[in-house]
Amino acid sequence: MKIRNKIFLNLFSLSLATLLIVVGFVYFFSRNIVISNIGSYNYLLAQNEIDSVDRFIDRRLERWQSYVGSNENLLEALKQSNDQFANMIGRDEFISEQDEAWKKIEKTAVTPFMETILENSISDGLRLRTKFYEGETGYKIFPEFFITNRYGVLVASTNKTTDYLQSDEEWWQRAVSEGVWVNDVSLDTSSGVNSLEFCIRIDNLEGDFVGVAKVVYDIKDVFGIVEKANESSEDKMIENLGFTRKTTVANLLTKDGKLIYSTKDGYGNLIDSELFLLANQMLSIGSKPFLIRMDEGVEELYSTGVSKGSGNFGGLGWTLIIEKETQEVLAPLNSLIKWLLFIVFVIFVLISVVGWWLSLSFVRPIKKLIDDVEQVENGNLNLKINSLTHDEIGQLHNAFGDMVMAVKKSRQDVDRKVEEQTAEINQKATILADQQKAILNILEDVEAEKDRVARERDKMNIILHSIGDGVFVVDKDYKIILFNEVAEKISGFSIEEVMGKPYGEVLKFLSEKDEKINDEFIRDAVSSGEIKQMANHTVLVQKDGNRVPVADSAAPFKDKNGKVIGCVIVFRDVTKEREIDQMKTEFVSVASHQLRTPLTGIKWFAELLLKNKLDDTTRDYITQISISNQRMVHLVDDLLNVSRIDTGRKFDINLLDIDIVPLVKSVIEEQMPGATEKHVSISCAIDAPHKLILAVDELKIRQVFQNLISNSIKYSKENTTIVVGCKQEPKEVTFYVKDGGIGIPKHQQNQIFKKFFRAENVFTVHTDGTGLGLYIVKAIVEAHGGKVWFESEENKGTTFYFSLPFKAKKSK
Ligand code: ADP
Repeated sequence: MKIRNKIFLNLFSLSLATLLIVVGFVYFFSRNIVISNIGSYNYLLAQNEIDSVDRFIDRRLERWQSYVGSNENLLEALKQSNDQFANMIGRDEFISEQDEAWKKIEKTAVTPFMETILENSISDGLRLRTKFYEGETGYKIFPEFFITNRYGVLVASTNKTTDYLQSDEEWWQRAVSEGVWVNDVSLDTSSGVNSLEFCIRIDNLEGDFVGVAKVVYDIKDVFGIVEKANESSEDKMIENLGFTRKTTVANLLTKDGKLIYSTKDGYGNLIDSELFLLANQMLSIGSKPFLIRMDEGVEELYSTGVSKGSGNFGGLGWTLIIEKETQEVLAPLNSLIKWLLFIVFVIFVLISVVGWWLSLSFVRPIKKLIDDVEQVENGNLNLKINSLTHDEIGQLHNAFGDMVMAVKKSRQDVDRKVEEQTAEINQKATILADQQKAILNILEDVEAEKDRVARERDKMNIILHSIGDGVFVVDKDYKIILFNEVAEKISGFSIEEVMGKPYGEVLKFLSEKDEKINDEFIRDAVSSGEIKQMANHTVLVQKDGNRVPVADSAAPFKDKNGKVIGCVIVFRDVTKEREIDQMKTEFVSVASHQLRTPLTGIKWFAELLLKNKLDDTTRDYITQISISNQRMVHLVDDLLNVSRIDTGRKFDINLLDIDIVPLVKSVIEEQMPGATEKHVSISCAIDAPHKLILAVDELKIRQVFQNLISNSIKYSKENTTIVVGCKQEPKEVTFYVKDGGIGIPKHQQNQIFKKFFRAENVFTVHTDGTGLGLYIVKAIVEAHGGKVWFESEENKGTTFYFSLPFKAKKSK
């Protein structure tokens, strides 16, 4: 619901409710007051009217009392009658006979005896009297009037009565005893007359009881008094105050509740009235002698008055009930309420107009705010927002304006960021597109590379399978990934049997001598990344268990980053070479043994000859013979050593603790003449007083120093210095021999320790050489558990190193 409607409706309903409550309240209280007042008034009215009735009856009764009590003729007549009956013999019998006879007579017939009673002067006087009242009221107000003597028999009567004797009647006896007795209203159904009976005891002037008079009284004139109760007032003011009597009805009831007269319906015929109960109810209420009741759909106000008697008349207990429609009672109030409602309506219209105006003043700024909100909703952030008022709504409006400004600013920020990000995304998209292209190119390249690799692989397979040597390739886990036909032939294993298996499971490389696994060269190649030669005297165990001598090497292969990812092992069957070597070695051995004896003989004879007196030329020749012989002896010794090394025989090492320092010094001493001859100096960098005790085979270590120092001298340039030194480490000592000589060509350095190998640069410098010296040096050092190596640069010099452990043990 709109606020405007809400305000309007709230104001509307609030004012309506207030006004209606006020009007209702006024109506309710006024109604009670009015009803109470009118009820009380009607009660007074009813009581007043019934009192009037009592007074009226009393006045009638009083007149008859005075008439019968003061009428001398009547008293005289009664005296005579009483006297007559007092002295009468058989009076009671006479009375009862006359009474019986009276009753038997036809109703309309009149006997002579009756006539004496009806037609005497007293009866005439009585009739005259009733006629007088008839003339006064215009109707037979007292239709019957008769008198009895003190014995109860009729003396005079205006009409023929039913009985002669009346003393047996209750009214007669009660009149005698009470003086006056009024019989309650009775209805003569044939004539419709409602009558009372005045029964009056008659006393003479002396006060003696003389007779009883009975007057029947038609109470029609009493109803005139009752009618007054609802007579309309001529007084307008009273009428305006609500005391009109348009709907007023007065009902006169006997004390037994029989309706005597109603101003509405006339005679009540003494029928039981339902109002009787109501009257009793009201009387029991006491302090509030009126009540309201619905009667045939009409609300009525009832009030009641009760007869209390007047003067000699003790009253008959009649009640007068006045009923009146509350509608009439409340007529002035209703007109007041009508006026009030009119005023309420006017006020209400005024409130509505004011409410409408008020709601408009509330709603207008809100409406403006809503319009602004809608515009902002539709995206108009540039809207100028101004409030219409300075109240809370105005503040809200201004706050909304501030909020729109903030939103606008953040929107601009967001737009800017979106722009930046879009540019960035576009840039990235371009990069992505480029990358995509690049990837496609790479894919193409990869495809091309794949083809190339496939071709290479095919080529390699062809090469591999056409190589005359056995070749197999292991990956970094030493699993066989390639195996060529020659390898199959040598080993006896098929490709299927070896592929994917660790090579050690199928291919066993053993040392010929002790049958121990001897495949370190493969692992060394992988761990060092360098080509490693297979050890000498290695055999391969074939599939059938036979041993085949093999030789060659293992070469690692690397990935782009230089990391070793596998190894190519090349091996060949060297059975034939081995046999030839064997034969060669055996020949050398035999030849050198055979040569040594004649050479020793030549040496002896040469020395003997030189001891003789000889001319210079002869001496010179014999000296040359001796030197050449000496060289031959050296050569033969070297050959013998080599044959021992190669065959593994007679190359025993006898370890003894010796001090190396003097040994080195004595070798230098020995070599000094040759050095001096070549203008080369030798410096010993090993501290002289310091002992260096090592367990070595003295002769063999001496030979090592001899070979290394003599090589240095041989291959040194003139005027250079050879340095012999050592470096001690915790577990070993490294010796070195350093020279400033011709050096060793780079490309031949890997062959230096081979048997009979001489570098190409030495032939011009030193023609005689065997190429066996270093071979023997290596064999001796390794036999001591040490290592030998060198550093060399051509034309600058060479340094040979060898290490010896402190705790030497024989390795072979
Ligand atoms: P030989 O010296 O008799 O030729 P070696 O076995 O002693 O035989 O030496 C083998 C080869 O090593 C030599 O021929 C020479 O080429 C090279 N060599 C050895 N020592 C040196 C050195 N100190 N300087 C240069 N080359 C050397």
